Amino acid sequence: MNPALIAQVRRLDGAPQVLVDPDELVAYGYDATMGYRGTPAAVVMAETEAHVVDALATARKQGTPCLARGGATSLSASAVPPDGALVIDTNRMRRITGFDEERRRATVEPGVVTRDFRDYAAARGLFYAPDPSSEAAATIGGNVATNAGGPYAYKYGVTRDAVTGLRVATPRHGLLSLTRGTDDGVIDLIIGSEGTLGIVTEVSLQLRPLPSHRSVRAASFPDGESALRVVAQIMESGITPAKLEFLDDITVESLERSRPWGFPRDAGGLLLVELDGEKAEVHEETDALDALLRSAGGGMDSVDPIRAERWWEARRGITASLARIRPAKIGEDICVPYSQLAPTFAAIKQAADDADVVVAIFGHAADGTLHPNMLYDPTDEEERDRAFSLLPIVADAGLAAGGILSGEHGLGRVKQPFIDRAYDPPTLDAMRRIKRAFDPDNIMNPGAMWPTGPMEAHP
Ligand SMILES: Cc1cc2nc3c(=O)[nH]c(=O)nc-3n(C[C@H](O)[C@H](O)[C@H](O)COP(=O)(O)OP(=O)(O)OC[C@H]3O[C@@H](n4cnc5c(N)ncnc54)[C@H](O)[C@@H]3O)c2cc1C
Repeated sequence: MNPALIAQVRRLDGAPQVLVDPDELVAYGYDATMGYRGTPAAVVMAETEAHVVDALATARKQGTPCLARGGATSLSASAVPPDGALVIDTNRMRRITGFDEERRRATVEPGVVTRDFRDYAAARGLFYAPDPSSEAAATIGGNVATNAGGPYAYKYGVTRDAVTGLRVATPRHGLLSLTRGTDDGVIDLIIGSEGTLGIVTEVSLQLRPLPSHRSVRAASFPDGESALRVVAQIMESGITPAKLEFLDDITVESLERSRPWGFPRDAGGLLLVELDGEKAEVHEETDALDALLRSAGGGMDSVDPIRAERWWEARRGITASLARIRPAKIGEDICVPYSQLAPTFAAIKQAADDADVVVAIFGHAADGTLHPNMLYDPTDEEERDRAFSLLPIVADAGLAAGGILSGEHGLGRVKQPFIDRAYDPPTLDAMRRIKRAFDPDNIMNPGAMWPTGPMEAHP
């Protein structure tokens, strides 16, 4: 309880709804990451930019930690509040405030659900490319804060590539209005900063024309390593996949146990590839892809549009389907160069065998992302500990392969403890300075992402 804070947020102009009942607050203590929770002091259900600005100013005055919350689909515990925090929920800010078909531009509030926006654009003949698999629940504000990617990321870019402007409430500098072309440095700091520098109140986005044609192939291989070696061949061949997804045998099994989707259950490693563009271009690339898959020895399947849609739906549901193998999981999302996908996969599977943990691995292979998910039964404490013990091992495997700690989920609270494995001390100090420049009192989502600890002296 923080009576002074609660009294102040209840007096905010425009009287946004404020939740303080412990029974209601329970739901705000979690995001989609299992094994992490916090207990907030209160939740402000912001409906306007002014609510966000005023709630943030109140938190700063009170010295209370605060964090923005969108769809709460974070898989790095970045939306799990520190105990006693003020949560500023942006889900009621879900208006599309501008849409210019001719210039292919849109302006939205942060709580707009990603798929709703994609559908809205598609109904007007336009394509919003960033497509996190959580798009049915995630928000554009959360996507900006995590720089979300998705299957389309390799060909069409991540959220950063679509953002042309932001409005952001910050604790130190007030409300910033930023435009691509003039404020790129600050925009690019805010994107991916996991709500630790400010709260996004408006996003301007660039859209594209919808691709007119597509083709989809499924290719199964005897094991995950051989499938991932073929990913490297595809990427080196000059083919530009719109989507290139990898699923290992455990992932395929979990999907088939959740619903009979029709995936080849005997696949040791499965690739789903989509090509899109103009008709001639798609035909040409499909012929080249078919030849490559045939020579690589994959069991190949041409997937008709209806089955393709079902399979992409299944792909988006992998996280939930893994519960068919074990009830809980902790997920990683390292990103490595193509040539390192197969050896990194093998190293992680070996570590999983050594630790006696079932690890399912899948990912947007075209951009080098692998999601090793350590599965466990939460009632079995030893198995849970063994699963969590693999987190640093997976992080190190990614770094040793020349990769990075996170392909798309961000560092949040799950991978923050590994940040000093990835960067040298001067870089970590530069990060601390950036954080301090925006948030001198460290009230914005403290504990997520940034290096902790004191500055080190460097010449
Ligand atoms: C099934 C599933 C599939 C997923 N697939 C993908 C995928 O393919 N690609 C991918 O990139 N991610 C994926 N994710 C992770 C997650 O969906 C993304 O990180 C997403 O962008 C989070 O959006 P959200 O609205 O749910 O944000 P939240 O989970 O609510 O918040 C995430 C972070 O953003 C901050 N935040 C939220 N709103 C704002 C705001 N307005 N201003 C400032 N900060 C804010 C929060 O404080 C927190 O730090 C997946 C998650 C699930 C559960």
